[in-house]
Amino acid sequence: MTVGTVERAAWAVPRLPGDPDGFCLTHGEEFESLDPTDGSVVAVLRSSTRDDVDVAVQRAQHALRTSAWRNSGPLRARVLLRFAAGVRRDVDRLAELLTREQGKLLREARTEVLQTAEMVEFYAGLARAVYGRSVALGDNAHGVVLREPIGVVGVITPWNWPLVLLVRSLAPALAAGNAVIAKPASLTPAITVAALTLLAEDPDLPPGILSLILGPGAVVGDALVGHPEVGMIAFTGETSTGISVMKRAANDLRKVSLELGGKSPNIVFADANLDKALEGALNAAFATGGQICTAGSRLLLDDAIHDRFLDALAARVRAIRLGDPLRPDTMMAPLVSPNQQRTVREYADLGRQQGTLVAEGSLPQDPLLAGGCFVAPVVFRDLPSDSRVLREEIFGPVLAVQRFADEDEAIMLAADTQFGLAAGIWTSNLDRAWRVGRAVEAGTVWINTYHHFYSETEVGGFRQSGVGRQQGLDGLIEFTETKHLNFDHSPTLW
Ligand code: NDP
Repeated sequence: MTVGTVERAAWAVPRLPGDPDGFCLTHGEEFESLDPTDGSVVAVLRSSTRDDVDVAVQRAQHALRTSAWRNSGPLRARVLLRFAAGVRRDVDRLAELLTREQGKLLREARTEVLQTAEMVEFYAGLARAVYGRSVALGDNAHGVVLREPIGVVGVITPWNWPLVLLVRSLAPALAAGNAVIAKPASLTPAITVAALTLLAEDPDLPPGILSLILGPGAVVGDALVGHPEVGMIAFTGETSTGISVMKRAANDLRKVSLELGGKSPNIVFADANLDKALEGALNAAFATGGQICTAGSRLLLDDAIHDRFLDALAARVRAIRLGDPLRPDTMMAPLVSPNQQRTVREYADLGRQQGTLVAEGSLPQDPLLAGGCFVAPVVFRDLPSDSRVLREEIFGPVLAVQRFADEDEAIMLAADTQFGLAAGIWTSNLDRAWRVGRAVEAGTVWINTYHHFYSETEVGGFRQSGVGRQQGLDGLIEFTETKHLNFDHSPTLW
């Protein structure tokens, strides 16, 4: 079957990695990574062991002690820039692998690969600007406040946007002068190996500054989090996993940064540009099949436009074409795995029992895709306020609609969640955008847009959506320790 420029059947299954004693330490069992569109094997890999984690930590410490990495911003900038250039050069190869392994649309995979390069370039620039400050402390003393690398940083990431979510921790950690041990999700190991090999092969990267470990989070992820010589864990994933990571790291007071789940409200006021808001609502809820932490999975509609907005939304949802993500005309791809498919279907069934079905898309007709992990997009209203569909992160194409009478009620509904990752506000009244934007507790609030991310601006969560911030300047500072060097020039101590 030919799909655009990419042939679905034409795929030589790679065995990865070929260098278990190099940067990718894997002395465990073989395992397969599967394509969620048709169940075929994408790559054969090997897991790491707890011993591999220990070796990675020792190598990292040795590299930090003996190489120029920790103190040379220009070296770090050079290596990161070459990594970004390699990612840009290989965009087609990486995007195809990403689509095959994760299942996302090929055009979205290209966007992700290019955003990955852009993020690395941003932090390559900052690698030369990890500034401290000096402070005059009276006539005979001054202080130099330095930003120093933490040391060995473990980066643990999920499968939904596996490259961007990896580099938004890895790139600032390296830019700040740390060594990194990366542990990707077990559903997306091959794309991670392929991308990080481009960095690991740089002749100026000291061996040991970057290591990759593969395999189950409960085994090798746990070994990384529990390792006493790892100075910080940057974790992105589910809130429940993040809580257990934080508890484990607390045993010996190691630093964590946590980017966790969400149930984000997307609020449409009657005075909004409704055509743009409709596009925004679809993108917020259904991009990557709803498998985005910031998904606008709760749509809050002003009473005055509720019915006509829902009619227009329903027509668009019914027209969403599910299919092969390698095809350019496909609008929604399969979910990442049979497990994810099962979980999301259970939420959709619950929505049917507890609420009113507004619209549902249809599954692909192609018999070759019958075994794919597809779930049709679905929209519900009239759900009880304690419904799990309204309260829990589903991570799939299930949208819950609520209605509000005025601004106060919109704010109240938006706040009725344990999460605080993102929100959207659609209005032509900038005073209202300011008021509601200030009132909503979320790390990112989009006004008249949704899902626009920039390397320059921070992301992160209030409440149970996380601890700390990534991206932007704060995202670099997270990976540093502050040190005060205090100088005294007086001839006597007192
Ligand atoms: P998980 O929490 O299941 O897994 C995330 C990572 O943690 C994986 O690499 C996993 O490995 C690893 N892991 C699992 N258990 C442990 C453990 N005990 N110790 C250490 N590491 C462990 O999340 P998902 O991969 O299912 O990703 C989806 C979640 O990620 C959603 O909740 C989503 O909201 C969140 N997310 C948050 C973002 C944000 O910016 N706030 C961005 C994107 C996603 P393995 O795969 O082997 O199980």
